[in-house]
Amino acid sequence: MFDNDNFRPGNKLNLKEKSTDYSAGYASKEAAQERTEKNIDRMARMQDILYAQDKYALLIIIQAMDAAGKDGVIKHVMSGLNPQGTMVHSFKRPSAEELDHDYLWRYTKALPERGRIGIFNRSYYEDVLVVRVHNLIETQQHLPPALITKNVWKERLEDIGHLEKYLYRNGIAVLKFYLHVSRQEQKERLLARLDEPDKNWKFNAGDLEERKHWDTYRKYAEEAINATDTDYAPWYIIPADKKWFARMAISEIIADTLEAMKLEYPRLNDDQKKMLAVYRAQLLED
Ligand code: ATP
Ligand code: MG
Repeated sequence: MFDNDNFRPGNKLNLKEKSTDYSAGYASKEAAQERTEKNIDRMARMQDILYAQDKYALLIIIQAMDAAGKDGVIKHVMSGLNPQGTMVHSFKRPSAEELDHDYLWRYTKALPERGRIGIFNRSYYEDVLVVRVHNLIETQQHLPPALITKNVWKERLEDIGHLEKYLYRNGIAVLKFYLHVSRQEQKERLLARLDEPDKNWKFNAGDLEERKHWDTYRKYAEEAINATDTDYAPWYIIPADKKWFARMAISEIIADTLEAMKLEYPRLNDDQKKMLAVYRAQLLED
């Protein structure tokens, strides 16, 4: 049956060895969709308590290569949640204003408030992925050159680790998903964007350029995941060649994580309970 631990990266992640399609060993597509629906119900129940309690927040980070299905996951898996308690941020190329700040600035500004679920579609992990692949740290990020040493990526990963620990210590749980898609599946999805008129708008010629750097992205992703996978901010590597499977797995893991947070509706103390009786009497007399 479904075991969340199967999707943890382990001690030393090697993405090449991780399958991008586990669906054969699991239930049918229909059964998975049913299960996803149930998971979404569980998430919605827990979200209500999270919101009422107003103590914890959940930050969900989604990272992937292009066309791996980030948008679809957000659309389907978050569909049953209360929009008032949910916020989604998609991080694109940083603006001039953003580039004038330290690289974490734009992400920390977007963190979910207590009681909320925040979703980062891409995240500060781009600053050790795309920024590293294209050396944007030197060409874009306005850093003092003396700080860009050979240790800079290790330092960034340390900074990210510290940020996640800080969030944990502030009641913000962090959950990280890497959608693991095969190069072949990406090719098919990009071809579909060219071939199907309703998908043409999604095609981005830049994705073909990024695809050339596939192995480099994979290597840096492994490094980032290995350096930042912790109990309090865990990574999950989600086989993403089958969209229905990825959605089931992610909804299951989010629901389980929320349930494990031991959320509780606020309870009134005795004085407050006495006041309820007073208010009840007032209303009844009205
Ligand atoms: P899709 O998967 O549907 O293509 P997307 O997330 O790729 O969605 P786009 O608008 O196509 O959305 O691309 C966003 C781009 O922003 C990506 O190419 C990504 O590499 C880039 N980006 C994100 N964060 C940074 C960053 N910190 N520095 C530079 N580029 C970034
Ligand atoms: Mg894109």
